[in-house]
Amino acid sequence: MKSLWNDEAAAAFADDDLAMRVYTSRLLGSSEDLVMHGGGNTSVKATTRDFFGNEVDVLYVKGSGWDLKTIEKPGFPAIRLKETRMLAELETLSDPDMTQQLRALMLDPTAPSPSVEAILHAILPAKFIDHTHTDAIITLSNNPDGERILAEVFPDCMVLPYIMPGFILSRQVNEAIKRDDPAQYKGIILMHHGVFTYSDNARTAYEDMIELVSRAEAYIAAHGSTALPTASHTVDLMDLARIRKAVSDARGVAQLAVLDQTPDAQGFSDLANVADIATRGPITPDHVIRTKRIPVIIDNKPAAGVPEIEQFAADYRAYFDANGSAELQILDQAPRVGIWRAAGSIAFGSSLKECAIITDIARHTRWAVQVGESVGGWQALPAKDIFDLEYWVLEQAKLGKGGTAKPHQGKVALVTGAYSGIGRASCEALAADGAVVFGLDINPDVVAQLGGGAMTGIVCDLTDSSAIAAAVDEVIKRCGGLDIVVCNAGIFKAGERVESHSEQTWDDTLAINLTATQRLMSATIPYLKLGVSPAMVVIGSRNVAAPGPGAAAYSVSKAGITQLARVAALELAADGVRVNVVHPDAVFDTALWTEEALAQSAARYNMTVQQYKAKNLLGREIRSTEVARLVSTLASDVFAATTGAQIPIDGGNDRVI
Ligand code: ZN
Repeated sequence: MKSLWNDEAAAAFADDDLAMRVYTSRLLGSSEDLVMHGGGNTSVKATTRDFFGNEVDVLYVKGSGWDLKTIEKPGFPAIRLKETRMLAELETLSDPDMTQQLRALMLDPTAPSPSVEAILHAILPAKFIDHTHTDAIITLSNNPDGERILAEVFPDCMVLPYIMPGFILSRQVNEAIKRDDPAQYKGIILMHHGVFTYSDNARTAYEDMIELVSRAEAYIAAHGSTALPTASHTVDLMDLARIRKAVSDARGVAQLAVLDQTPDAQGFSDLANVADIATRGPITPDHVIRTKRIPVIIDNKPAAGVPEIEQFAADYRAYFDANGSAELQILDQAPRVGIWRAAGSIAFGSSLKECAIITDIARHTRWAVQVGESVGGWQALPAKDIFDLEYWVLEQAKLGKGGTAKPHQGKVALVTGAYSGIGRASCEALAADGAVVFGLDINPDVVAQLGGGAMTGIVCDLTDSSAIAAAVDEVIKRCGGLDIVVCNAGIFKAGERVESHSEQTWDDTLAINLTATQRLMSATIPYLKLGVSPAMVVIGSRNVAAPGPGAAAYSVSKAGITQLARVAALELAADGVRVNVVHPDAVFDTALWTEEALAQSAARYNMTVQQYKAKNLLGREIRSTEVARLVSTLASDVFAATTGAQIPIDGGNDRVI
């Protein structure tokens, strides 16, 4: 591991302790092999002034919710140093008391809560304290012969046995450094947990960490192997959707299933002994709140219902019964990581962000497990230690900031005609309600239009069945399933009477509005049947119930998809898939309406454009965002008992009523 220290960059922070702390914290954070996703923490001891202008010694320590990779000054709350050190001298300190006292010692009560390892940072007698959960060193400690190996590789470090983080760990280290001056050591290694380095000089503390990690890497290179097996398989996407469905059922809410098919993920899933080595425990107990203690191992061709998921849940209940106590409440019993044999690794979670974190941890874990095996054996902490951390109230608090779940959280939606108008608005409404949304459009700008966050644009010509199939495959590969389909794409050409209708307009309109909708249904229904509270919403038109002259092709196509939706509702009810139709009218903020078309239509009725826009019983214009809100609500459990319905959103029309 190379030091990323840069004299020129560092010079700017020479007179500012906290700025220097930010700088080297980010250096640590930039390497995933050192810290991941909020893991690890750093601090600096400095002097500042309180509200009255008095000098006060403080500890700036990483606050919860911040990541070392991106941390800034506000990510380091200042707490009174002397009193924080006094906490370490107490015989006992409950978790609620520790949290409360640390908060009470903050100079700014609105700053983020200090790290649960704050007391430990306070008692280490050096200005800069760096703490990581580095893969290489923990891998050596997760070994049947770990203590001997660490003693051999790190004769100049203090090595302490594993103990749960928080107050008792601070006490353990406090006792140890009273017996044994830490100044004579380069660092402190906590078995199965991580490493502390410390110095009055920021660069030394950082580079000592890099040096210790490099030593572990050299030992691994000499005694084991980091060359991991790779493989390349194709997967059955229906199986992936079945797995996702089973995990969602086990969790009780929709879950995304993000497949990792990187060559090494596939290589790991191929190992004959993967079920053994992958289920011994996490690299560091901290990961348990993200990944649970162990992954589920799934057969390449899982049986119907994926019994592996049920077995995982049963095993989890047994683990809880063996390690829990009466006052604890069991958490959900669904896995977060799946090792799918001869296929790869799957992350299960409620958002893409959560799945990305799980994917990263799973990648580092399989590295550590395989490398650990190559240097003499992978041995994680006993289940009881992992359990204690999983059910530690301070760890659970890290996750419990989500608030109320959104109606479509963990669900996957597909919307056609997504570049503009009702389609675009539907993508936004579904994403705002928590869904991961894929928007299809023939306009290549849809990719930039929807890019980022929970929305993805896919270029797709809906008159090409193979293009539809490819787009649906893409959705399943990315998220593992499909729950909501919004059939919206359509074209509208007015002004042609039946007797003189152009064949081109007729054929194009039916191809896009009607035939493509049936093709999309064919491609998505198999996945919807495996969806969570699945729903299809078809965008019809007021024209279905109240047609007008001069729009035969459009009216016929919309009547056609309405009838298609009714048949689909009948056919799919037994599978729990709801199919409903909305009939909008007078939605003028869509691509169907140009200013010219609007002016022409208004003139036909002898109205101004404004009068024409509001020519309905309620006398109001209807916006595409309003239609989109109806679409998202119709797809939600508010309408769980409704299928085959047709809902006008037209401001009230006497011909329809
Ligand atoms: Zn730690």
